[in-house]
Order: sequence, then structure tokens, then C-alpha cells
Amino acid sequence: QTPIEKKPDWIKTRAKMGPEYRQLQNLVKSEQLHTVCQEAGCPNIFECWEDREATFLIGGSACTRRCDFCQIDTGKPADYDRDEPRRVAESVAQMELRYATVTGVARDDLDDEGSWLYAETIREIHRQAPGVGVEILVPDFSGNPRHLGEVFGAQPEVFAHNVETVPRIFKRIRPAFRYERSLDVLTQAKTAGMITKSNLILGMGEEPDEVLHALEDLHNAGTDLITITQYLRPSPRHLPVARWVKPEEFVDFEQAAREIGFLGVMSGPLVRSSYRAGRLWAQAREA
Ligand code: SF4
Ligand code: SF4
Repeated sequence: QTPIEKKPDWIKTRAKMGPEYRQLQNLVKSEQLHTVCQEAGCPNIFECWEDREATFLIGGSACTRRCDFCQIDTGKPADYDRDEPRRVAESVAQMELRYATVTGVARDDLDDEGSWLYAETIREIHRQAPGVGVEILVPDFSGNPRHLGEVFGAQPEVFAHNVETVPRIFKRIRPAFRYERSLDVLTQAKTAGMITKSNLILGMGEEPDEVLHALEDLHNAGTDLITITQYLRPSPRHLPVARWVKPEEFVDFEQAAREIGFLGVMSGPLVRSSYRAGRLWAQAREA
């Protein structure tokens, strides 16, 4: 292991299992439910589940795009499962969640790029679990206003699309996306009346001043909420970690983001885009 591969101490979490977490864990096991929280081994699971928040993946386990930081496999997409929205909503209801994040793979193989599936999952959760906040974290649907409109029409509590990195290295890290197009997706969402959210992953080769510029771009594009996170390399096949951003730098970026005008910010080495998403949504509503 080269020194950069070694995780600094501040990346490690301690397990603190509370009663809500234990109850959810038993339920997920006995009912064979699937969450990203468990399947990706997310370090925040004790905290998020204690708040009854969880994340679900839709659209299958293979993505038609390939991003350098992402652990989801690229490959031949699964068959289109029109029953998936109902099952995800059933899990949300069974788990008695307060807030659910739904994300998924890019489905460039489908005529609608999967927009119906995302929209229907929002509608089904609202139907089966009224009162539960739904955050939808989507690919870009190639910026197509019709596909995006389908998702806006389902009225998610938060519409999220992540730019993930700064313009200079964007093409290398997200070859099938475009920085400007991602900003435009967020602008379309804001114009449609959505509460909007995005994410930046640090430690992939960006410079600090580029992060500040990206925060300004995102705010100017109409983004309300932002999460700022550390890149963790999923496997040796993935992009190496360029640097470990110190906890105090995350505090500085949080401060900068608030000054730029974001309504809510989560910034830290272990933050994920769905980390305490319900609390962040509450910050937007209070603002
Ligand atoms: Fe991963 Fe999303 Fe990129 Fe697909 S589009 S590789 S799921 S980040
Ligand atoms: Fe689940 Fe997201 Fe929380 Fe991780 S950060 S436990 S994936 S809701």
C-alpha cells in the first residue's frame, strides 16, 4: 500500500447501534429487503437508520455509463422491471421510514432513459407511505426536458442530480456526462419549482479554488442544497485517491457554501449525498 491509499484516522467510524437501527436491521433481514445502505456497506448506516432514513437503488445493478469513482458495474442492463416501484414503496412503508432517497443507474438503452421508472417510484412511495419525504437522485436523462418533466411531475420532495467534480477533470471522470448539461438539468428542476440538490466529491484531483468555482456555478444554476464528500476508491480498478481532505477544510468549504447562498450544506469526510438527507431537506424548508 502506498501512503495515499492508507485511510487517515478521521475516515474511520465507530459503531453505535441504537434501538431504531436494530429494529430496522431485523426487519430488513427477515423481509429480505434491499437497501443501498447495507449493500454498499455505508459507514453512516447507524446514524441514518436511527433517524429512519435509507437509500434504495432502482433500474437494475448494471449501468449503461461508466464513471471513474463509481462501484456500480457497467454492463448489459437488466430487463425492465415495471413492478420495481411498487416493491421499493412497500419496503419504505414496511420500514416506517421518515425519508427515503431513491437513486439508480443510467438506462440509455430505454427510449425514456428510465424516467418513467424514477417517476413511478416517487408516485408509489407517496401512495403507499404518505408523509414520507422522497428524494430522487437521477442521472441526467441527456438533459431531455420531456424525460425530466416526467420526474418533476411526480413531485419529489427533493430533486437531486450530482455534478460530482469540477469542469477541468469532468470529462475524464464522467465521460458520458457533461458539466454544463448537468448544471442545466438543475436549472430545469429549479424552474419547475423543485427543491434542488447536488454533490461534489473531493480527492479526485481538483484544486480548492476549483471547488469554490463549482459551488458558485451550482448556486447560479439554481441548486438549493449541497453535499461535499471525500472520494474513497471502491477498488484498485478505480481512480486512485488524489488526496485526503482534512476535516477542517470541509468545515471551510461548508462555510464558503453558506456564504455563497446554499440553503443547506453537509460537508465532511464521511458525508454521502444521501447522508441525513431528511435533515437537509428540513433546512431548505425552514429557509
Ligand atoms: Fe455510477 Fe451513476 Fe455513473 Fe452509472 S451514471 S456509473 S450509476 S455514477
Ligand atoms: Fe444509507 Fe445514504 Fe445514510 Fe449511507 S448515507 S446509510 S447510503 S442513507
